Amino acid sequence: MSRRRTPTTADCRRALWLLGAQPPLDHADVLKAWRGRVARAHPDRHVGDERREQAAATLTRALNEARETLDWWIDQDLDWPPPGRGGVREVRFDEPEPWPEREPEETVAPVCPVTGLRRGDRVRLRPYDGDVLVVEETEVDQRDRSVWVRLVGEPQAARSDRVRLAAFSCPACGACAGPAVDEPTIRPCPDCLVDLRRLEQRPAEADRIRRAIEARARAGESTAESIGDGRLVDRARERRRWARRLGPAGPEDLQAALLSAFSSAWERWGERPAPAG
Ligand SMILES: [Zn+2]
Repeated sequence: MSRRRTPTTADCRRALWLLGAQPPLDHADVLKAWRGRVARAHPDRHVGDERREQAAATLTRALNEARETLDWWIDQDLDWPPPGRGGVREVRFDEPEPWPEREPEETVAPVCPVTGLRRGDRVRLRPYDGDVLVVEETEVDQRDRSVWVRLVGEPQAARSDRVRLAAFSCPACGACAGPAVDEPTIRPCPDCLVDLRRLEQRPAEADRIRRAIEARARAGESTAESIGDGRLVDRARERRRWARRLGPAGPEDLQAALLSAFSSAWERWGERPAPAG
């Protein structure tokens, strides 16, 4: 994720306006304002209406950026810009403005770019039928660039190719893994994280990615059936139908729909605290 340019006074004023916040603010005030806005703008509130869903996802990213700008402003101890004419306007959420697409941001623990894992994830080791373990961190061995996963309470790190997510369901593609638990982790699967990055760089891959999602949803459906979790079966089935319905869509609509689904999955995940660690 690239770092953006240094915020200007205009950026700060826009961020205040977006979050509906009145200076002076501290970090806790920013977080509170951001939470309130994000809850109202969340793409999940517009499920079923692709255009509004996409606009809401775009708005959520703008809110994330506004929060980052204000946090930076506070850290720099800069003077707050004087209020503009008419003070702070109310933001309308029923018709989000078409802000330019921006990268989603990580709001909780950083995600390992190689494995897609982050601290707190539940995993199992090959052959993936043993106890569920919790990720502490991942690290790269500089000698051979191999990636190792440290696990809570385990003396030895495991090589990343022996580690797989467990007890989770991907809201974008319906991929999932056992064992059956009361609260499976809802998070984008590593394949969807890779596909999101690819899609942002190469829109022409949208159709290939759509087909890959449909295949993962089909596999997720049979995995969910084998672990006996009806909610995960329903999610995977719904995702498979969604991916199939997108089949005839034109390239631009397809890319927008996929980006929206990925962004929504990412943002929901970002809001969720890590389960342990
Ligand atoms: Zn997925």
